[in-house]
Amino acid sequence: MLITAPETSDHLDVLPVTTLKGVGPRMAERLERLGIRTVQDVLFHLPLRYEDRTRIVPMGSVRAGQQVVVQGEIELAEVKFGRRRSLLVRISDGTGALTLRFFHFNAQQQAGLQRGHGIRCFGEVRNGAVTLELVHPEYQLVDVQAPLPADAHLTPVYPATEGVHQLTLRAISAQALHYLDRQGGSGLVDWLPAALVSSFHMTSLPAALRYVHRPPPDAAVDLLAAGRHPAQQRLAYEELLAHHLSLRRIRERATHTAAPSLGGGSTLAARLLAALPFTLTAAQQRVIGEIRHDLARHHPMARLVQGDVGSGKTVVAACAALAAVESGYQVALMAPTELLAEQHFRSFSDWLAPLGISVVWHTGRLKGNARAATLQAIASGSAAVAIGTHALFQAEVDFARLGLVIIDEQHRFGVHQRLALRDKGRDGEQRPHQLVMTATPIPRTLAMTVYADLDTSIIDQLPPGRQPVKTVAISHERRDEVMESVRKACASGQQAYWVCTLIEESEVLQCQAAEKTAALLIESLPGLRVALVHGRLRPADKEAVMQSFKQGAVDLLVATTVIEVGVDVPNASLMIIENPERLGLAQLHQLRGRVGRGNRQSSCVLLYQPPLSEQARERLAVLRETSDGFVIARRDMELRGPGEVLGTRQTGEMQFHIADLLRDEELLEAVEAGAARLLAECPEHVTPLIRRWLGAAAQFGEV
Ligand code: ADP
Ligand code: MG
Repeated sequence: MLITAPETSDHLDVLPVTTLKGVGPRMAERLERLGIRTVQDVLFHLPLRYEDRTRIVPMGSVRAGQQVVVQGEIELAEVKFGRRRSLLVRISDGTGALTLRFFHFNAQQQAGLQRGHGIRCFGEVRNGAVTLELVHPEYQLVDVQAPLPADAHLTPVYPATEGVHQLTLRAISAQALHYLDRQGGSGLVDWLPAALVSSFHMTSLPAALRYVHRPPPDAAVDLLAAGRHPAQQRLAYEELLAHHLSLRRIRERATHTAAPSLGGGSTLAARLLAALPFTLTAAQQRVIGEIRHDLARHHPMARLVQGDVGSGKTVVAACAALAAVESGYQVALMAPTELLAEQHFRSFSDWLAPLGISVVWHTGRLKGNARAATLQAIASGSAAVAIGTHALFQAEVDFARLGLVIIDEQHRFGVHQRLALRDKGRDGEQRPHQLVMTATPIPRTLAMTVYADLDTSIIDQLPPGRQPVKTVAISHERRDEVMESVRKACASGQQAYWVCTLIEESEVLQCQAAEKTAALLIESLPGLRVALVHGRLRPADKEAVMQSFKQGAVDLLVATTVIEVGVDVPNASLMIIENPERLGLAQLHQLRGRVGRGNRQSSCVLLYQPPLSEQARERLAVLRETSDGFVIARRDMELRGPGEVLGTRQTGEMQFHIADLLRDEELLEAVEAGAARLLAECPEHVTPLIRRWLGAAAQFGEV
């Protein structure tokens, strides 16, 4: 193909994609959905995988399951009227024969497939009724006398979207590579300092791109498939660097932003701690110290507290809140569920009311006069602490003097929301401090990338006397035995949760299922005081149920996964999780964390429905073997991918073109070092590097 690139010194990052042949305004619109606007974007739209079409395989040697290119002569083409009408084309090459099967075809296509024509096909081999088949192969008619040479490189398969086919993506990437070559690589600036590139023995940027888009036929296919080829790793490094820098820049900006200094004193916190029935662990004290240090400064704190379930994050949050209140500022505490918001409201009220501090509760369900009164208390400043769901951050909520925002269970919100919340409560030049808490702890290297905009504190110690929860997996077939042990446990004064799970179904269905289970348990366990809590109860009713459970007036609490986060009833020591195979590891760990909060030996029964998938079996095994949140988070990421675990997949954050947080973990130390170097040696390269890799997503580095 002859490509005519205009002689231009234009940099590829400003050359619109419509410069490429075959890309009109309509195609440009579709490409935009893939984040492609410029020729540079085409170069950084990287293949997901490769197909090997460099060798033509003799038909006699193909096996089912292989992806192959075959070439031969059409022997017969006929339409069969079976269950589904299909066009069958028999081809052979002297070594063997195959059948091509088309369910969708038009007259023109049918007419082209004539006996005696040469044909080359690419597709996956399947076992057919009579012979091996290729269903809907890609094909091309060829001259048997003078066949085309096989492809000179592996065929890239790109992330595509509706209306943008692989052939289009291949055609435009070929042109983009041509532009790159044409300009001797000068159209694409390498933003990494040369010394960095050579110290890591990195492939040059143009060479890496060329290799990744069009690997030679002798490329190490396994390495490529695993994403571990040096050319891929070079690009992955650069991509991780760009992400890291974008978050770091947000952190940097904070040092130029003003915040109220909340170093007012620690009298209130001291009074709270004196009233508690326990003393803080050393880890809690250290973390509170780190937070107080940040709060006293004139720049907004952005600190993440990682602490396993049950490590005591709530009281740490309360101490932070008191520092703000003592300095004359308000605090907003946001929880991901109403139930947790209610519980926090209760704990904070219990703790702070004796200190004369007013706490209010605000969620979307608050209506009428109560709502107006709450909003008024927040706006006038008479409410010192406001606790609620994300409803706290709606426009109508107007704080008089917001000094600190606390986000609990932040992994439920995702990076984007966390960043969006930073600007809430901005008061002129001043911004409130932000404290985020998570029970999904991740290794330091990963945190450096995912949370590079935050300072991190770790509560790496559980309160004394905690015993790991004994965990067993039992099949549904033995449900009666499980019910019997619940009866016994409750008869001896223990309290238990019975958790009903349903995924990807409506909340209505979840609640109905829980209602059914509760009815069944009430019937089969006479003498037990059974209660039910789910998301569709009125807030006051939910609250009442949780309170009577907490006070010991309920033996068995049947619940949906609404109790997953935060719920704290230390006396509960037994948990049954029905169909745990439906949940992810982190979620199961969170749920299980509802028991084992007191000094009593607690147990968790994973009441699974056989047969278990391989993955589910593995998840349950991990849960039985360990209660270490770090280990569990890591295994969960291996099984489901980091995006699922960190809550970033649905929102599209931390989506990489080529990097993979787990696979490339060993690059992360070097990424941090590279970032420091880039910032010191060529800070002006940071913005274009972030733009290149993050495109439109980069805007959040620019708030
Ligand atoms: P999480 O970190 O999961 O949010 P919580 O803050 O809910 O944990 O605390 C779990 C339980 O441990 C609560 O009942 C809390 O009162 C209790 N707790 C917190 N800190 C301590 C401590 N230092 N000693 C004993 N119990 C504690
Ligand atoms: Mg908590």
